[in-house]
Amino acid sequence: MCSTGGGPDVEIEEKVKEGEGRAYRCSECGYRFSSMSRHPICPSCQSEEIDQV
Ligand SMILES: [Zn+2]
Repeated sequence: MCSTGGGPDVEIEEKVKEGEGRAYRCSECGYRFSSMSRHPICPSCQSEEIDQV
C-alpha cells in the first residue's frame, strides 16, 4: 500500500435553467411561451387551454 489512489474527482452536473420554466403552447391561439407555473394562462389571450410542449 505505497501507492496513493486518485483523489476524489467528482463532477457535479446540474441541468438547471433558471428563469425558463417549461414550454407551453396555447391551444386557443397557438401562442408559445414558457412559464414556471403549473397551470399557466396564455399571456396572449388569457386562455387556460394550454398544452405542454
Ligand atoms: Zn392563447
